[in-house]
Amino acid sequence: MDERLPWHAPLWRRLQRHRADGRWPHALLLAGPSGLGKGSFARRLAASWCCARPEADGEACGRCQGCRWFQAGSHPDFSAVRPAEDGKTIKVDQIRELAGFLGLSARCGGCKIALLEPADRLNLNAANSLLKTLEEPPGDSRLLLVAAQPARLPATVRSRCQTLKFAPPPAEDAIAWLSGRIAETDARSALEVAGGAPLAALALAEPQRWNRRRQLAENYDRILKGAADPVRAAEAWLQGDVAENLRWLAGWHADLIRLKMGVEPPRLSHPDLKPVLRRWAAPQSARALFERLDAAVRLSASSSTAQISLPLALEAFFCESARVIVCDPSQRPVIEG
Ligand SMILES: [Zn+2]
Repeated sequence: MDERLPWHAPLWRRLQRHRADGRWPHALLLAGPSGLGKGSFARRLAASWCCARPEADGEACGRCQGCRWFQAGSHPDFSAVRPAEDGKTIKVDQIRELAGFLGLSARCGGCKIALLEPADRLNLNAANSLLKTLEEPPGDSRLLLVAAQPARLPATVRSRCQTLKFAPPPAEDAIAWLSGRIAETDARSALEVAGGAPLAALALAEPQRWNRRRQLAENYDRILKGAADPVRAAEAWLQGDVAENLRWLAGWHADLIRLKMGVEPPRLSHPDLKPVLRRWAAPQSARALFERLDAAVRLSASSSTAQISLPLALEAFFCESARVIVCDPSQRPVIEG
């Protein structure tokens, strides 16, 4: 069963008022940044709808036949739709099949439930097909759409859903939840790098991933000092989660602008790397830094398309960075000791 995350409590209570009124919206769009547990919340809600005897607070009882089927992934009135492969889209055939499923009468006497996750990966034809279901929802059907980037969905789809917005909890609440799971100093840094999203912070603090980020910072530092060949250094960036590596690179460059603009910026995406970021930013013009940020953002965006050769684009990016951002080679390394 999915964990009850403390920052979900106000949203859960708000939704239970629909239950008290006996009126559920046909479609709910759970929207907000990754790492807040939107999918977990959606499954918890679906579980409560599948339950024959929910608790007073709306939670599934966990013991009835409906709960047992849901936990086993075999509830006849529940269907989860996701891309057939990670990183791909949800296709129109999947949505047509879903429409057929929702059109059947509920086997257990309740409602038919569909979970689309991530709904922002619906391709255009699939979104148009879903729109027909949203315009004329069959019987007592309920759709849960989970999206970190709801703007990717057509406005016509969004406007037919009731939106449930997820936002990062207050930092101290997130630290309290993380502190039982990771060291507090790591929790604070990881939470900031993860934009305040606790589940993303927990995943990021996993040692291999945390170390990879610092090693890439060390790698980039050597390039900027002229101590590493940009072409060979690019190889390290193609290891692990490449899209994440490039998001970090773009995030550092955004931080360089913040450091250039303010003596003490109120917020950095990578505050634990502030000493080295400050060193990279110091000798450069704001104009040069903006150009590098632009290039880093384009590189990051291109990692999800097959239209360019990523190794070549990375090499070109690093060669240009080494030419534009020249750092003093006598400076201390990123990772000391
Ligand atoms: Zn139950």
